[in-house]
Amino acid sequence: MLHGLMMDFPLTLDHILEHARRMYPKKTIKTKLPDGPVREYSYAQFYARIKRLCNVLEALGVAPGDRVGTFAWNSFEHVELYFGVPLAGAVCHTLNIRLPQDQLVYIINHAEDKVIFVDGSLVPLLEPIAHQLETVEYFVVFNARDDQPINLPNLLQYEALMASADESYTWRCTDEKMAMALCYTSGTTGMPKGVLISHRAMVLHTFCVLAGVAFGVTERDVVMPVVPQFHAMAWGLPYASTYVGATMVMPEPHFKPDALAKLIESERVTIAAGVPTIWNGLYHELRRNPRDVSCIEQLIVGGSAMPRGLIEAYEKELGVNVVHAWGMTELSPIGSVSKLGAQHDGLDDDSRWDIKAMQGYFVPGVEARIVDHAGKELPWDGETMGELQVRGFWVVGQYYKIEPDHEHFTDDGWFRTGDVATVDADGYMNITDRTKDLVKSGGEWISSVDLENTLMSHPDVLEAAVIATPNERWGERPLAVIVPLKAGVDQTALNDYLLGHFPKFWLPDDYAVVGAIPKTGVGKMDKKVLRAMYAEGAL
Ligand code: AMP
Repeated sequence: MLHGLMMDFPLTLDHILEHARRMYPKKTIKTKLPDGPVREYSYAQFYARIKRLCNVLEALGVAPGDRVGTFAWNSFEHVELYFGVPLAGAVCHTLNIRLPQDQLVYIINHAEDKVIFVDGSLVPLLEPIAHQLETVEYFVVFNARDDQPINLPNLLQYEALMASADESYTWRCTDEKMAMALCYTSGTTGMPKGVLISHRAMVLHTFCVLAGVAFGVTERDVVMPVVPQFHAMAWGLPYASTYVGATMVMPEPHFKPDALAKLIESERVTIAAGVPTIWNGLYHELRRNPRDVSCIEQLIVGGSAMPRGLIEAYEKELGVNVVHAWGMTELSPIGSVSKLGAQHDGLDDDSRWDIKAMQGYFVPGVEARIVDHAGKELPWDGETMGELQVRGFWVVGQYYKIEPDHEHFTDDGWFRTGDVATVDADGYMNITDRTKDLVKSGGEWISSVDLENTLMSHPDVLEAAVIATPNERWGERPLAVIVPLKAGVDQTALNDYLLGHFPKFWLPDDYAVVGAIPKTGVGKMDKKVLRAMYAEGAL
């Protein structure tokens, strides 16, 4: 090796926080309290509180490498934990508050969480399972009501601990290869699996989020993650916002459309990020009760496919720029973004929305390929569908405590996403399905995602999910489960509408009308539940 190389400067999260303290001490982080005011404090206070938190963790016996659970909505306490736990050398394990009890117990025991920090309003979800948690030594509660009865063993109060903690502390994240967070996948199949993120991966991911090629967050931005902090590290936005001193606004629990609309308007939010279900709800709210949301410069959407019709509605009716992105917990999570390139200059609106509805180009740091069943690489011609495989600076190498297997990893070092996609000659990806959700009819693939998106662009349909149902003649046929916007939606009219977009054999044989599509813990349509409902004759 040549001598005289640059500094060996580790990619650790303390540098993000130190930079914010120096450069942006007066900028603020805000949390909207449920039915209450917006609390706010400065990055300088944030910094001091994280030092205290590290001392609290140490006093509780948390050592480098230990896992510390969070069970919380979005709030500045939760952002303190996002930094404090890794800066104390430990691993921030964000627990998904919407998981069923058996999965929560499984995850907490599997991760061996030592302490769990819990939001007061969520205590009732932990109380019934507390006795099954084998490794948890303390529960630390924040944001609880003064008179709230809490029945958790070894219970401590966050603010009381913080008040008596010291403000001097030497960060303990000394190596970029240390783990900083542990996120379990939302588990649409089987038990959730853990993804252990390193400091190095998250710092590099942060640079990506800050780059114009992704979201280009700057100090001028007011960033509102509506993606829960328990979903894939809120897509990295808390780290990116801190690094450049952007104002952070954490919405109140439950993410109700009217509350979100009010907060966007009052806080002049410039970047808001969430799953399509959230933006679908907000759109209908804004139609009913118009508000000034012209402050939004980027409405980031990911987690599932954003229906093209909804992109068009936001841009045409509300003048809101939609930025569609694809990611996975396994990618920390950003993988691709669908902003327009120079080659799209001069396109008409319809063609622009077609492109924005794709999942877009791979961001720098993530390499991708599509392959056939035999693992042979397929062409990027915009038509050939294949399994999407990725590798890169922030891609999972193996699941936590599970040896890499062929179902998820290839021998030559790629992660198998389980998504099926086409990629066009410009490198724009279009996800056609999950491998497990495709409908195979008479030997031909039908994309459930394409059908859903088109159904949701019909004016009478609020939500649509398409699942495969067994069929003697064809193998499988599509069944559309819809939530109509008005009573008496006509199946023939919907199929006529689909016929304008797809070949006849794609049209659903049947429609089931439901009051709501079941959702996973992170707000995606839960087809596992729909398939079970179908099997039980409930559709
Ligand atoms: P999760 O780890 O829970 O975020 O789930 C990741 C999966 O969500 C991906 O493998 C995709 O199947 C799906 N997904 C995420 N973003 C998108 C998107 N923009 N369009 C379609 N599917 C998406």
